[in-house]
Amino acid sequence: RATLGVLGGGQLGRMFVHAAQRLGYFTAVLEPDAQSPAGLVSHHHIQTGYDDPAGLAQLAQLCQAITTEFENVPAQALQTLAQTRPVAPGAAVVAIAQNRIEEKAHFAACADLSGVTCAPYAVIETPAQLQAVQNDRADLLPGILKTARMGYDGKGQVRVKTAAELAAAWAELGSVACVLEKMLPLTAECSVLVARGWDGQVVSFAPQRNVHVDGILAVTHAYEGNMPPALADKACEAAVSIAHHLGYVGVLCVEFFVVEDGSAHGGLVVNEMAPRPHNSGHYTIDACDASQFDLQVHAMAGLPLPQPRQHSPAIMLNLLGDVWFDASGQLREPDWQSVLSLPGTHLHLYGKSEARVGRKMGHLTITGPDVASVKTVARRAASLLSLPGLEDI
Ligand code: ATP
Ligand code: MG
Ligand code: MG
Repeated sequence: RATLGVLGGGQLGRMFVHAAQRLGYFTAVLEPDAQSPAGLVSHHHIQTGYDDPAGLAQLAQLCQAITTEFENVPAQALQTLAQTRPVAPGAAVVAIAQNRIEEKAHFAACADLSGVTCAPYAVIETPAQLQAVQNDRADLLPGILKTARMGYDGKGQVRVKTAAELAAAWAELGSVACVLEKMLPLTAECSVLVARGWDGQVVSFAPQRNVHVDGILAVTHAYEGNMPPALADKACEAAVSIAHHLGYVGVLCVEFFVVEDGSAHGGLVVNEMAPRPHNSGHYTIDACDASQFDLQVHAMAGLPLPQPRQHSPAIMLNLLGDVWFDASGQLREPDWQSVLSLPGTHLHLYGKSEARVGRKMGHLTITGPDVASVKTVARRAASLLSLPGLEDI
């Protein structure tokens, strides 16, 4: 039987393993952590670093094709694997997505095709560039200074209002390569998942609307009417053209801002992309006839990519470690009995041994016959678990 491989052992790898196993594949996970969510459920767990040549050789030897679930996997590791096995997505596109400077340059390069631009920004890699931005780019303030590499869940970002704050923020981030982005007046955020095969065929899910709390995804709204149809169409087309332009193979998630109409950058603005399935696409497991992980398996293994169909409206609530602490800060198991007594609730827990504040422990997807009942159940579940982010529905 064929084996599919994945670099990284987190929850995205775990859900990939589940999808691959359902199709009868064996799986191999390369991940240094002995107790990782994906390693625990995989047939093979190669417990070593992502850059260990012996581990990579073993992975290649075991697997028919290899993917990644961890966006900061060394691009070199993908390149090494690609010498002997199909690797999707490829090292070059993952390297672009790993670096905001290259990512934004790519968005700019295909802006004519995609019809969207990113927020106005400047690159700051040297003291001279910092000085130039302080002198000449007052238009970027107030703004957000973001490290070019390794940031996620709002980490590696500082909001700045003045040129002096900018200098302090750059020092605070270690004077590493950064981009300063203009702070835009957002009315909403959304993301689009596309899957592209080796032959260039592309399928996509409808855009989901995302609510972030403290820089971390809290809620995803996935149903018709979750955003204005014209914007949804535009986001979808933009994501597809970005995937084509990259020559991407696999599942790609593109995040967008919806900016206040009438403001300088009103409309749709592209934020960033993730070269893998995405937290905002977890609802597809329970609400669609093919999930983002099914499509990841299909794309990398060279299986057909049928257009997925969403059969139920859905809301996904992210379950951070915070939920495991009661009002007095005591660690305890959340009240799953009450949550699971609500209709259409699908609880996914990632098998992480230790709950910590801000740590992604699982998610809860609510499906139902119509949007109104999904919203009602989501509100009840959120209130039972004291979850934020549902105030506006
Ligand atoms: P992820 O976990 O999605 O990879 P990240 O750490 O890479 O997140 P971003 O997506 O760049 O960070 O930013 C996190 C959040 O901060 C965004 O979802 C948005 O809510 C807010 N944000 C980022 N950039 C801007 C901007 N230019 N204007 C307004 N809000 C912004
Ligand atoms: Mg990011
Ligand atoms: Mg983001």
